Amino acid sequence: MNREVTHRLKACEVLFNEGDPPTTAFLLESGRLRITARSDDGERVLAEIGPGELVGEMAVIDQSPRTATATAISDCLLLAIDAAQISERLSNTDPIVRALLEGQLRRYRATLAAIQGTQGESENPYQNEPLGIHKIRLESALRESLRNDGLDLRLQPLMDVLTGGIAGFEALVRWHHPERGPISPAEFITLAEETSLIEPVGDYVLRRTLDALVDLRQQGLGTLPFIAINVSARQMSRANLVEQLLEDLSERDLPSSAIKLEITESQQLDYAQVAAVMKLAQGNGIRVALDDFGTGYSNLQHMHLLPFNTLKVDQSLARGMVDNARTRVLLGSIVEMASNLDADVVVEGIETEAELDVLRQLGVHYAQGWLVGRPEPVSEAIRHYCESLGRTARQS
Ligand code: C2E
Ligand code: CA
Ligand code: CA
Repeated sequence: MNREVTHRLKACEVLFNEGDPPTTAFLLESGRLRITARSDDGERVLAEIGPGELVGEMAVIDQSPRTATATAISDCLLLAIDAAQISERLSNTDPIVRALLEGQLRRYRATLAAIQGTQGESENPYQNEPLGIHKIRLESALRESLRNDGLDLRLQPLMDVLTGGIAGFEALVRWHHPERGPISPAEFITLAEETSLIEPVGDYVLRRTLDALVDLRQQGLGTLPFIAINVSARQMSRANLVEQLLEDLSERDLPSSAIKLEITESQQLDYAQVAAVMKLAQGNGIRVALDDFGTGYSNLQHMHLLPFNTLKVDQSLARGMVDNARTRVLLGSIVEMASNLDADVVVEGIETEAELDVLRQLGVHYAQGWLVGRPEPVSEAIRHYCESLGRTARQS
């Protein structure tokens, strides 16, 4: 096949034959082409196409031999689209959209095989299930679980490094899949963010968090510990996020200092809007943390625009802290930078006393991780909190 970008054909010339390998698709710029396929009774015309239409893309998309022959009816000018151009775009596409497209192609090929009197390959639909189909299944199951109390909330404590006491908690959602068992939020939150399901999941987390704060207050322990909730990019773009939160807090007579918002930088964030939401939250006493600092999309380019109160350093940094002097220097600089910006620092993933010691030496304010406590069901977390203050939990 000619690798030139533009491709000319004289009337009656063949562009490709049925059975040819799928190297290129074409955009027909001028002229007309006839698409034909062999059948029991000779040859069938499947279509005639004109300027502005694509031809030969199907075999390229599913990497199968051409199912038809394309012949010029008149002189044609074509623009060649390399297979790599198409596969690159397909691999960057939402897997669900890809699965829908692949489904359509399979159906088209089966119909063509029926017309031609040949046997289409019979596929086991569960073998090599495309990622998109897996996601559609998961999404439907999550929808179902939202209706049937299939979600649960865990609270993980954060230690005040200076006093050794519990300063607050992070709310972490869990999903108990009816067949697969517990599914990590790392898997289903991404899925929920791709669809509008993050809204009901977020509402669930908020409702349970507010209930937990009411339970904590009923323990009569003095200062209420805070609970930090994770807010995804899509939730940030909700017009009345902060107003609604303030209303929910005031309905329960809870102080706005009892809730913290954790925001992770991502490609989807609209920084101007996020900065405005953060300012509004802070203006009303709700503190905001930048989550997973030091990984992914967190960078200085946006950081100076975001008025955070807390930097949450990702646990990947905690791992190197004890053995690597450079990691400690980095962490020390983060603490200094945060303090110059009037912010405090949490380090996540603290699993050993040695790691906690490093936090003490470097003046890190809060530690979160298995050493301090695992994420626990709400009632357990409240019980442990009361015990840590030397009190017995009251039943709400
Ligand atoms: P994250 O916000 O960075 O949450 C911390 C994760 O680290 C949690 O995983 C927690 O269980 C885990 N972790 C805590 N301490 C340790 C430790 O000492 N060692 C190790 N190896 N891991 C530790 P989890 O619960 O699986 O959550 C994963 C991510 O899912 C969270 O990361 C957060 O981004 C997201 N997520 C969880 N709950 C929610 C939610 O309610 N809403 C949203 N939007 N995202 C959530
Ligand atoms: Ca978080
Ligand atoms: Ca984090």
